[in-house]
Amino acid sequence: MDLAKKKEENKEYTIEDLPGVGQATAEKLRDAGYTDLIELAVASPKDLGELTGIGEGVAQKIITAARKYANVGQFETGDVIFERRKNLAKLTTGSKELDTLLGGGMETQSITELFGEFGSGKTQIVHQLAVNVQLPPEKGGLGGEAIFIDTENTFRPERVVQMAKSLGLEHNEVLKKIHVARAFNSSHQMLLVDKAMELAKKVPIRLLIVDSLTAHFRAEYVGRSSLAQRQQLLNRHMHDLLRFADINNAVVAVTNQVTTNPGQLFGDPTHPIGGNIVGHTATYRIYLRKSKGIRRIARLIDSPSLPDGEVVITIKEEGIRDP
Ligand code: ADP
Ligand code: MG
Repeated sequence: MDLAKKKEENKEYTIEDLPGVGQATAEKLRDAGYTDLIELAVASPKDLGELTGIGEGVAQKIITAARKYANVGQFETGDVIFERRKNLAKLTTGSKELDTLLGGGMETQSITELFGEFGSGKTQIVHQLAVNVQLPPEKGGLGGEAIFIDTENTFRPERVVQMAKSLGLEHNEVLKKIHVARAFNSSHQMLLVDKAMELAKKVPIRLLIVDSLTAHFRAEYVGRSSLAQRQQLLNRHMHDLLRFADINNAVVAVTNQVTTNPGQLFGDPTHPIGGNIVGHTATYRIYLRKSKGIRRIARLIDSPSLPDGEVVITIKEEGIRDP
């Protein structure tokens, strides 16, 4: 079908619809992480040319065409956004102190990033969230179910059982409301967000966990030359997650490792993977540090609406608690 006709009929275009883009070029574009017209429309000719190997000139032509036909979206009036934000809800972390730091708990319609070194408690916290989301609102839950995208094989039903028991919940019922999928690589991980969207149409999913957000990306895209491509894909992944959060009025919690750079003398010696891409899309970022024994320090960083600050939490057999 030709482009003009499709436009008339208000159809969505695919990359192949663009003039000069055949199957081979479409494949190169998709491999580089450009899967729909809007992503091409906002790309820079230099990046697109380099990442796909099609050259800057051809890239510019594709971008110009994509701008013409992309569904760029519409303006929303403030009252519509106000109405949607009225439905914002908060999910308890298990620690009152941490909830207070977050303005009442983890917020729906946004992404919360937990970052920290190995053993800092990221996986423990997301297990706790998967249990807590099932609690009724008066107990800090959202009365819903959870999806757990597991990239490092760290989901442990036994841990869920311990946490559920300590809240007086029937642990088998709790386990039935946690939908777990292993992601074998970064592409699979991204596809699982589409699957999550489908599942959320049938089941009241109010929490989506990705543990870890960045491990596959870090392992697969090594070195400077693949950095731009990795960032492009992570950017797209983050926006898919944010869309999930918005549509389902859900909490999205993602974990991220840090690489320690002991040689660095000033500032924070740790760097979350994915750097500014992940940081700019996540609404809330919590930096976790080990302290004595079962204690962990949680610090809120760069929040648009809350003051920065830090609290101490503990990881016990019953789960995440105040000291
Ligand atoms: P990360 O995901 O940041 O690498 P984890 O969330 O896996 O770290 O945290 C691991 C820590 O959690 C362990 O070092 C241990 O202190 C604590 N932990 C794990 N399981 C239990 C348990 N059943 N009871 C108490 N503490 C636990
Ligand atoms: Mg972990």
